[in-house]
Amino acid sequence: MKQYDYLVVGAGLWGSVFAHEATKRGKKCLVIDRRNHIGGNVYCENVEGINVHKYGAHIFHTNDKDIWDYVNSFVEFNRYTNSPVANYNGELYNLPFNMNTFYQLWKVRTPEEAKEKIRQQVEEAGIKEPGNLEEQAISLVGTDIYKKLIKAYTEKQWGRKATELPAFIIKRLPVRFTFDNNYFNDRYQGIPIGGYNKLTEGLLKDVDVKLGVDFFKDKEALMTLAETIVYTGPIDEYFDFRFGQLEYRSLRFENQLLDVENYQGNAVVNYTDGETPFTRIIEHKHFEFGTQPKTVITHEYPQEWVKGAEPYYPVNDDKNTTVFNQYKALAAEETAVIFGGRLAEYRYYDMHQVVASALKKVKVHFDS
Ligand code: FAD
Ligand code: UDP
Repeated sequence: MKQYDYLVVGAGLWGSVFAHEATKRGKKCLVIDRRNHIGGNVYCENVEGINVHKYGAHIFHTNDKDIWDYVNSFVEFNRYTNSPVANYNGELYNLPFNMNTFYQLWKVRTPEEAKEKIRQQVEEAGIKEPGNLEEQAISLVGTDIYKKLIKAYTEKQWGRKATELPAFIIKRLPVRFTFDNNYFNDRYQGIPIGGYNKLTEGLLKDVDVKLGVDFFKDKEALMTLAETIVYTGPIDEYFDFRFGQLEYRSLRFENQLLDVENYQGNAVVNYTDGETPFTRIIEHKHFEFGTQPKTVITHEYPQEWVKGAEPYYPVNDDKNTTVFNQYKALAAEETAVIFGGRLAEYRYYDMHQVVASALKKVKVHFDS
């Protein structure tokens, strides 16, 4: 008999949901994380009463009522609606691409005029079947928006030419012909009241957790503790980079506490020109309608991932997909290891998809 049924590597959302559900089913879990806190990338740090999203702005959104009810059963969510503003060399535009943006850019006042403007630009570009992010973007919104609001932002964010990136990335953003600045089309959206830690603390309430523990530093001993390993770290690292390193995009966050009440009037302002080295400035208090006398802002600088840096975004292009599929095949042969989450599945998952993925795995593993 081993001490635990499951050793969960990673106290992020995927690992926390799995551990919670396993515990609910009478299993004993130990969750470890190499960071000194739970929550993975949704972790918040309290500064002067403001929940600072330490690893980047996180807005929960989903169309799935079950997922919404699930997260709300741990913490109530507020009614925050994400409506980022784009700053292109000092000109401000509403996002996502909607009638407000089209008016600001072209002074068009009706959906018909906006559609006609886009149609002309798409026709001039002559793209039949979009094969990459650039072609996809131009096909959706035309060349003006592509040049001012997409190209440079995308190339800063990913460190690659827009022509070398997969089309699906830009399809994350809605394009709509109504005056509606809601960044998401989903039915449910919000931020946990009191921050994301309430969610992950709720998930891990009855679970043993050890922080500051790196699975690979003490693998042999840790493996003896549990029958099954649940691994949510980078899949290439698990297999000791046997087929080479998968590429990730990393970020550097520069936080400032300012003695002003309201710095930019919005939680998210994107800088879409090519000269500004950061992609966005986050003003955290606005996620929770904060009225504190001070404010915390974060400049977000994209960086290429190197060993030791945080792997924030998988780069799901053809080259990396081929390598990932080799790791995936190896993972399928591991009988006592469950792989899940953004890093182990190498997928550009949002939080609701991570919760759904973990709950799906739980269902298959325990209930079928
Ligand atoms: P993670 O949160 O990465 O957790 C994995 C954990 O495993 C980490 O804590 C890590 O330290 C630990 N770990 C890894 N290897 C080891 C090891 N060897 N030993 C011990 N521990 C290990 N989603 C949204 O829905 N809305 C948003 O607005 C949004 N914004 C985002 C902004 C940014 C900048 C980023 C990077 C992501 C954003 N996301 C957003 C996505 C969201 O963060 C993820 O979907 C989700 O947090 C992933 O959860 P996870 O558990 O799979 O991974
Ligand atoms: N994007 C852009 N301009 C913007 C915002 C987003 O071109 O002002 C593109 C960019 O390629 C980005 C993608 O849309 O990587 C997805 O944006 P999202 O806001 O979903 O990215 P995330 O919040 O995950 O970084």
